[in-house]
This record gives sequence, structure tokens and C-alpha cells, in this order.
Amino acid sequence: MLATIGPTADELLVFPSTVLRGTPEDAPYSFAFAIPCDAPGLRFVCRESFDYGGSHFDHPLSTRFEEMDAVVIFDKVHVPYERVFMLGHPELCNTFYSDTGAVVHMSHQVVTRTTAKTEFVLGLVSALTEAIGIEKFSHVQENVAEIIVALEILRGLLRASEADATVNAYGVLTPKWEPLNAARNYYPKLYQRFPEIIRKLGASGLMSLPTEADVSGPASADIAQYLQSATLDGAERVRLFRLAWDLAVSAFGGRQALYEYYFFGDPVRMAGALVSGYDRQPYVDRVQEFLHRG
Ligand SMILES: Cc1cc2nc3c(=O)[nH]c(=O)nc-3n(C[C@H](O)[C@H](O)[C@H](O)COP(=O)(O)OP(=O)(O)OC[C@H]3O[C@@H](n4cnc5c(N)ncnc54)[C@H](O)[C@@H]3O)c2cc1C
Repeated sequence: MLATIGPTADELLVFPSTVLRGTPEDAPYSFAFAIPCDAPGLRFVCRESFDYGGSHFDHPLSTRFEEMDAVVIFDKVHVPYERVFMLGHPELCNTFYSDTGAVVHMSHQVVTRTTAKTEFVLGLVSALTEAIGIEKFSHVQENVAEIIVALEILRGLLRASEADATVNAYGVLTPKWEPLNAARNYYPKLYQRFPEIIRKLGASGLMSLPTEADVSGPASADIAQYLQSATLDGAERVRLFRLAWDLAVSAFGGRQALYEYYFFGDPVRMAGALVSGYDRQPYVDRVQEFLHRG
């Protein structure tokens, strides 16, 4: 519904909704296809870019990792039949992700990504707390511990999905779904804590941010004198804090938090799907057995 990187992609994949009613009325809405992004009648309406064309020093993340988001408009677009994967079968659409194993493989890639991202956050927060000499405070350690625990939980879930992988009906080695499903439900809310922790620990350092031009210009002596930290000279402290700012404060950082929250769709409705799809009966049976024990 919002095509991230769509405008720079060659092809657009339109995947089916998985919440169709399985009735004849929903048949026209059950389709999946691929189409070139320059197909006649296909248009993208982009947001403004968060890469302002500055230097890597000034905007270390947004100059490297900006991903454009765009609304896609289909205005009488012809989709050749040979590009259509699925059409007119709501019941097939509803099970498309689960029956093909697509959602499991997608989630494995995503949890690998979020684990790597959490490693980066831990590295960044650790560099920041060391730079300004705050690691000795117990509440700071509590925040760093929170990130370490999150990282190890993600690693454990990813590892469990691989350790318990099985070969599916099509002969494809498929990771175990439940640990990945737990991880993809966990991360959208977990990630929100990371910029919050960086803002709390970085404090005014996230706003005392001269640019690269200032660091090497007339203000360089002031920056060296007044922006030095416990372990870094002024220029290096600014370099580090600009990175923290780009993750936790900038427009790019704000979009990251929103992106993680809605990555797989609305977390509230994802939680509903998790509850309805999870086999809890064995645990209910165990409780019942205990209640009626003689
Ligand atoms: C940065 C970013 C990148 C994205 N990239 C992509 C992409 O590449 N491809 C893609 O397909 N999509 C993408 N999305 C879209 C994403 O899938 C949706 O944002 C997500 O599914 C939520 O839908 P929505 O934005 O329409 O919010 P809504 O569905 O309007 O929800 C807004 C709020 O209202 C509540 N709400 C609304 N309706 C209900 C309901 N029926 N029951 C309970 N609560 C409800 C929700 O809980 C939520 O808090 C992206 C989104 C963002 C933010």
C-alpha cells in the first residue's frame, strides 16, 4: 500500500490481501502479479527525500540508507495475463503466504536484519556512553543491559528457527515459524525503545551538532575546546553524535521508528492473528488437568 523503494525498483510486486472473505464478492479483489514500474498508467507519488545531499559526516545514515516511500497509483494499467500469479480465488489468496512458506522465509530475512540492526544500536549506545563517561551510572547500565537482552532474545529466536527447520512439501528447507513469528511481533514495539534510550543518554549532545564545514572552518578551535568529551576530541565527538542524532532525532530517524512499527502491518492486528493462529490447547488442557486432579 506504500511502496518503499518503488520509484527506483524495476518491478513492482502486488501481493494479495490475506483477509479476504472467501466469498464470490471478494473474488475480483484476490490477485497477485508483477509489473514493470514504468508500465503505462502506473504512477508513484513520493514523499520528500530525507537525503538532503549533504556529507556523510553531517548525515551519516540518511545520505547512505534513505529509502523512498511512495503511494502507487494504477490508472487503467494493463497487466498481461502471463504476469499474473493468482486471480479470482480468495481462499487461495488467504493462505498464499502460509502455504507456500513465503511468510516464513520473509520473516527469517527480516529477523536477520533486525538482529543486525540491534547489534548496531548496541555498538552505537556503547560508544556514546563511553565517549561521555556515563557508563558508571547504574541506570545507564540498565539501559545498555536492556539492549543486550533484546539482542540475545532475537539471536535466540533466529537460531531456534534454524535449528528446528524442516523440509517442506516442495523440498525447501524452511525455518520453524513460531520463533520467527514471536520475533516479528516483538520487534515493532521493542525498536521504539532504542531511539528513546539514545535521546535520554545523548541529551544535549544530540543538539550541540555543528556541521562538517564548522568543524574544519572558523569554529574549529571552539569545537576542539568546548565539544571535547571524556575520551574524544571535539571533531570526533561531533562525528559520533551526528550518527546518534540521525538514528534517534532526525527525519530519517523518525521514519525508521515508524517503519519498524508498521513493517509487517498493524502490530495490533498482527497480535490478533498470533493469538488466533497459536495452538494454546495443550496448555489449557494442562491447566484443566490440574484443576480436576483428585
Ligand atoms: C515507513 C513505512 C514504509 C512502508 N512500506 C510499505 C511497503 O513497502 N509496502 C506495503 O505494502 N506497505 C508499506 N507500508 C504500509 C504498512 O503496511 C501500513 O502502514 C500498515 O499496514 C498499517 O496500515 P495503515 O498505515 O493504513 O494504518 P491504519 O490501518 O489506518 O491504522 C492506523 C491506526 O488505526 C488503528 N486501526 C485502524 N483500523 C483498525 C481496525 N480495523 N482494527 C483495529 N485497529 C485499527 C491501527 O491499530 C493503527 O493504530 C509502510 C508503512 C510505513 C510507515
